Amino acid sequence: MKQHSECPVCGGQSFTSARKPYYFRGKREEFNIDSCNKCGFWFTNPAPEGAELAAYYESDDYVSHTDGKGGLMDQVYGIVRKRAIKSKFNLVSNLNAPLKSLVDYGAGTGEFLKYAQGQNWEVKGFEPSNVARENASKKGLDLRDPENREELDKGSVGVFTLWHVLEHIPDLNETLQYFHSRLAKGGYLVLALPNHESEDSEYYKSDWAALDVPLHLWHFCKGDIQNLAEKHGFSLKQVYNMPFDSFYVSLLSEKNRYGKQRPVQAFWQGLRSNIKGGSSERNMSSLIYVLEKKA
Ligand SMILES: [Zn+2]
Repeated sequence: MKQHSECPVCGGQSFTSARKPYYFRGKREEFNIDSCNKCGFWFTNPAPEGAELAAYYESDDYVSHTDGKGGLMDQVYGIVRKRAIKSKFNLVSNLNAPLKSLVDYGAGTGEFLKYAQGQNWEVKGFEPSNVARENASKKGLDLRDPENREELDKGSVGVFTLWHVLEHIPDLNETLQYFHSRLAKGGYLVLALPNHESEDSEYYKSDWAALDVPLHLWHFCKGDIQNLAEKHGFSLKQVYNMPFDSFYVSLLSEKNRYGKQRPVQAFWQGLRSNIKGGSSERNMSSLIYVLEKKA
């Protein structure tokens, strides 16, 4: 386990425990999330690393690596994902990036890239899971292990996308620096992330499924992305709500809290979160951030 003694965003050295969630994909095990007393950033602390971290991904519950044909939750995830692909692509397409070159970092089984390829974008992808890469190769996509990320030329990328990925990456600052170096001037970094300032996070507290410890090492809100953008040479251009995620996360959170699926209550909490998140500074359960590389 890695014990953080410095906040990865601001370097602050004193923290307060914010949540005590448990691992819900396998054997129940409690983790701690600290909040930095200086900048407010939340992070899993201590957090597993290396092989110890990888072992937590081996649960059958982790559907990002397959195409989700299992139980109810897998199916919901699969449907939402399919419907979301087109709207994600439209977002990317409307950025008017300097190059029509897209890199999906943490590409899963490659569905988003496949779609973008069909829309005449040059696509590349990185994905650490062997199983996911094999599933992608059946679609004709050659995804690479992130260990090989240095092979991309500097300044060669128009848009990087990370759909619920940055929260999984141990070397947070190095990775953001890497994106900056590989993007062309005026290129974009698009990040989809859970938002712990949302109403569903406040309601479910440590049962909030989007904490997803210890797979999620970092727990972001808008202020953190603003701070990280400035630190790494980006400007935060736009923030979008992801209204489907409130329902999906509430379904999982109800199960965490009550040990069974409670779809009616989950729907109500998802709706409540979206109403509050849509009409205030709070925002919804998950957000998409668009960051532009500064000169
Ligand atoms: Zn901090």
